[in-house]
Amino acid sequence: MIKILLISIVSWLFSFNTDNGNMKTFEQDTYLLKDSNTVTIEFYGHASFMIDYGGTKVYVDPVSDYADYSLLPKADLILITHEHYDHFDAKAINNLLKENTQIVSNPNTINLYGRGETLKNGESTQKYGIDIKAFSAYNTTLGRDKFHPKGRDNGYLLTKDDFRIYISGDTETVEDNDEIKNCNVLFLAVNQPYTMTIKQAAEYAEKVAPEVFYPYHTTDTDMKQLEKEFEKFGFKTIIHDMK
Ligand code: ZN
Ligand code: ZN
Repeated sequence: MIKILLISIVSWLFSFNTDNGNMKTFEQDTYLLKDSNTVTIEFYGHASFMIDYGGTKVYVDPVSDYADYSLLPKADLILITHEHYDHFDAKAINNLLKENTQIVSNPNTINLYGRGETLKNGESTQKYGIDIKAFSAYNTTLGRDKFHPKGRDNGYLLTKDDFRIYISGDTETVEDNDEIKNCNVLFLAVNQPYTMTIKQAAEYAEKVAPEVFYPYHTTDTDMKQLEKEFEKFGFKTIIHDMK
């Protein structure tokens, strides 16, 4: 695993004027890797963000509520975890398309959208030198499995040049932990009743021991309490506005 040499949190770098004249700014974190490649993550809100691998732009769960995607750079790859409205938005996808934009998602989303590559739990593919493996994402608490039944939705492990990012999707649990262990960057969805509690997230993050943890998809989660719960860990917890 490549260790992160430097993390610079740049919150002013990407600003532009929207149609109604408002200045819109998104927070970005840039990782400078040992081989002097950079990976920048730009945060839009809830489950929507973008990973820029030195110019290759990978959008994750783009949803128009969080950004006007017609104003953002076009996508090389769009990754969607599942078909819920807060993850799959055809309008946002259409705004990001250019020639050769690749779309990867679970079977239901690809059926709904009508194009793209299907990844089921456990399956892998490679795009632009990025290894993409789909992991299961589902509810384990009785009565909540109706939200995310086992086998339907995806989380993703992205690996490029030994730099590993895990994106949980909407889940209460993650299987195949050994593969995810020690990833550099860990995204966990933290909001009940749909995803993890703070305690579930803390227990899982401790097992994984990433370098950086991002809580996302947080909705009404008490972020002060979350911060407190994660203080004790040796890794860095970075909170962006991902309600
Ligand atoms: Zn969902
Ligand atoms: Zn969701």
